[in-house]
Amino acid sequence: MDWESFKRLRGSQKKAFFMRDGNIYHVIMAQQFDRGFLDEICNLATRIRQIAKSNEGTRFLLSLLQGRRAMLYFVQPSTRTFLSFMSACQILGMQCSEVRDTSTSSEVKGETPEDTVRTFSSYVDLIIMRYPEPGFAERIAFLLNNSGRPVPVINAGSGRDQHPTQALLDIYTLHRSFEDQGGIDGKKIALVGDLKRGRTVRSLAYLMKNYEGVKLYFVSPPELRMEDDLKEYLREHEVEFEESEDLAEVIPQVDAVYMTRIQDEYDLEGESKRIDYSRFHFKVEYLQLLKPNAIIMHPLPRRQELPTEIDQDRRAVYWRQVRNGMWVRVALIAKIFRVGGEIWHY
Ligand code: ASP
Repeated sequence: MDWESFKRLRGSQKKAFFMRDGNIYHVIMAQQFDRGFLDEICNLATRIRQIAKSNEGTRFLLSLLQGRRAMLYFVQPSTRTFLSFMSACQILGMQCSEVRDTSTSSEVKGETPEDTVRTFSSYVDLIIMRYPEPGFAERIAFLLNNSGRPVPVINAGSGRDQHPTQALLDIYTLHRSFEDQGGIDGKKIALVGDLKRGRTVRSLAYLMKNYEGVKLYFVSPPELRMEDDLKEYLREHEVEFEESEDLAEVIPQVDAVYMTRIQDEYDLEGESKRIDYSRFHFKVEYLQLLKPNAIIMHPLPRRQELPTEIDQDRRAVYWRQVRNGMWVRVALIAKIFRVGGEIWHY
């Protein structure tokens, strides 16, 4: 199949292409994950966290992928996801190299980014990439699959489109937070803020089709509503959702509030400045409205939408999310390299 035909396939049709012998290989989009995979990755992350508590366990984890190399190709600003992935690779004993600035690469000589990444792929066993353009990680995975030496590709953020590993860590955080409350099934989750351009909320919303009876509340300014393609996907998969502009009215109804900052880096002509985003800030007094067992999430970095006073509340779980991200990425890389079995046998 050529790239143009492949590109037109639906996410669910592309899924097989991201697998190898029944195992996950490329991690490109949230639609490729099913419930079995999500449950497994959460349980594996928890097991890894337990193992890493002892020195012996740490050494065991370090031995698993010793001698393997990962390249972090991050040409869109990032420090937290970059470091999270780097730490995850290092926990498993991988060596990491990085490209963060294409001005020092042959791209200045006119080389295409496709050729650049393909060249780098010759030196490593895994590519983790953040790129401003949607679809680029997918294109690289496609190219490498048709090359003589394929290596797995992980999408660490593709423009305003997707951030599938953030969605995995968000699921892991929800999974852990609701462990004693029947899990994620049946929960009501508010996604708040810039839903139009926020890739984390898009990837997370896709995953909700894997859970029974979840209801989503999309709370945003009218200019920044969730895109129609995603709403169409949810309708098709019978995930209930409702749109609102009234955060205070939604908060008492939900089990999780997922806050996001305005994504003004995608502005074409400063349009964010004309939007009253303050209506989508989690005000300190809203803590009174929130259910006692509900949680407050944020992918970070935050701005004024989440005042630091909220951090003291036990329902604020965003710092835990950060830590969960590292463990879930360890679990993901372990699965890609098929060492999950060894971890369970440890
Ligand atoms: N860190 C997240 C991302 O890379 C959220 C954000 O930047 O607002 O998309």
